[in-house]
Amino acid sequence: MAAIQDKVCRNHPDRPATERCDNCFKPLCEDCVLIRDGKPFCSERCFENQLEVSRNISSFETRRKREVLLRRRRRLVRATLMILLLGAVLAYILTHQSQVLLWRDWLLDRLPDLAL
Ligand SMILES: [Zn+2]
Ligand SMILES: [Zn+2]
Repeated sequence: MAAIQDKVCRNHPDRPATERCDNCFKPLCEDCVLIRDGKPFCSERCFENQLEVSRNISSFETRRKREVLLRRRRRLVRATLMILLLGAVLAYILTHQSQVLLWRDWLLDRLPDLAL
């Protein structure tokens, strides 16, 4: 493996570094590098830290996806309710046309300045 330019192992200053820890980017020699999941790490701790981080990211993403879905569903419910309400109002107006006209006249009597 090619040496990392001008870098020596963090634990062995007399040895050239061949890898960097994927988590903390510490330069490491062949003896110090720890391969986990095909990636170089300086320690189990760094490997676990990175696992933790990627787990947090993926759980964050699933949470966000769930929220988007929920929001979309809520919007759909709201739109459906709106349509139902409009339909109900429309049905009411159509079936109570005379009464609605009476209300309008009543309103017009009380709000003469409002040109309806
Ligand atoms: Zn590390
Ligand atoms: Zn070393």
